[in-house]
Amino acid sequence: MTSDTGVAAPKQDPWAAALEQFDRAADHLSLKQGIREFLATPHRELTVHFPVRMDDGTIRTFVGHRVHHSMVVGPTKGGVRYHPAVTLNEVRALAMLMSWKCAVVGLPYGGAKGGVAVDPAGLSSNELELLTRRYTSEILPLIHPEGDIPAPDVGTNPQVMAWIMDTYSMRRGYSTPSVVTGKPIAIGGSAGRLEATGRGVAITLREAARRYGYPLEGATVAVQGFGNVGSVATAQIARLGCTVVAVSDVSGGVYHPRGLDVGRLIAHVREARTVAGFRGGEAISNAQLLELPCDFLVPCALEGQIVEDNAPRIRARVVVEGANGPTTPAADAILEDRGVLVVPDIVANAGGVVVSYFEWVQGLQQFFWTEDEVNANLERIMMRAFGEVAAVANARRVTLRSAALIRAIDRVARALYLRGIYP
Ligand code: NAD
Repeated sequence: MTSDTGVAAPKQDPWAAALEQFDRAADHLSLKQGIREFLATPHRELTVHFPVRMDDGTIRTFVGHRVHHSMVVGPTKGGVRYHPAVTLNEVRALAMLMSWKCAVVGLPYGGAKGGVAVDPAGLSSNELELLTRRYTSEILPLIHPEGDIPAPDVGTNPQVMAWIMDTYSMRRGYSTPSVVTGKPIAIGGSAGRLEATGRGVAITLREAARRYGYPLEGATVAVQGFGNVGSVATAQIARLGCTVVAVSDVSGGVYHPRGLDVGRLIAHVREARTVAGFRGGEAISNAQLLELPCDFLVPCALEGQIVEDNAPRIRARVVVEGANGPTTPAADAILEDRGVLVVPDIVANAGGVVVSYFEWVQGLQQFFWTEDEVNANLERIMMRAFGEVAAVANARRVTLRSAALIRAIDRVARALYLRGIYP
């Protein structure tokens, strides 16, 4: 089934998919049953229903969540999503993914996630601010610069982070920039944070190409989703010498078999705020984009896009997951059988949380780095993580996803053994 945007509707509950992935990887580790059960369970969950006064004077009630999956390794870290399809199970799944993502790149964080079921495009700026400030007030008991640090995700941006930071600071009575990352630079954000996830996606694409022998020069690439992650990934991948043949957003996509003019496309999206209407290619749906003949497919929209139905028709040789959870476990198995290499989300899109970590460190030290320093450290950490995961995949003869999850779950489990069970 596809939505009217041509995007496949998620077929599997995201939490069920996250647990299935966890189980597959955990089977490779000799964890005690009780430890395995604890790691598969969210540590804390808060659901809030709250009112917002709209511009026309009416009052609407919204539902939001904040979930801490694991605080074994350190404070919890994870984005806040504003999207109409947000559910507690989606937030749980994304929180668990954050635990594995932080562990696989070696950050001293556990995983968390938050979200509000809302279409932010349907709100005025004033309504968005009121919703953000009220949601922040509701989840205040859970967030803290040393306890749980939110960041941007789908539908949120640096301005939303600024409102979260300000609301938290007003409630505490002093400025607390380090309670969120992904802030504007003027209030303690980090150089390079906005571009970090897309930049990391391009670094892992490059490393996968090198390691597994796919030439980059002239390789064809299709990117689904043209928001923060997708637009930066597209620009960075074009710089590697690849030919970007298709991109899309919620309104559909554009395709040109000989390549899109990425500079003109970005200028068009800046102006029109959508990919739709770009004249440099033919209009296609999101479903068509996924099935195009190309070397690299880079999903950067939402979870559940490559599913059992369309996996047999994916023609890319490599899938690099910019989005979180874009491939369901059933689709993953089909791609593996068909020899399609999948660079998993927890590695491919970890650049965002890596530079969020840099932002948090800079904020706590009140000492800020140059963009070159940020990018050099990002490059180093992403290359190390990719290399370590590829080595595990090689040694255990498993997929990159299984290798990344095995490494991540093992790290968290070891930390848990060292800390012990309280009391
Ligand atoms: P964004 O809101 O900036 O962009 C989302 C993009 O997806 C937009 O182009 C939007 O039009 C498109 N989209 C939304 N709904 C869609 C639908 N139903 N079908 C097709 N396209 C749709 O979000 P983002 O920050 O770029 O996040 C994209 C993905 O990357 C998400 O899975 C997110 O969890 C993941 N991610 C983001 C970050 C980050 O730093 N922002 C970090 C790691 C992972």
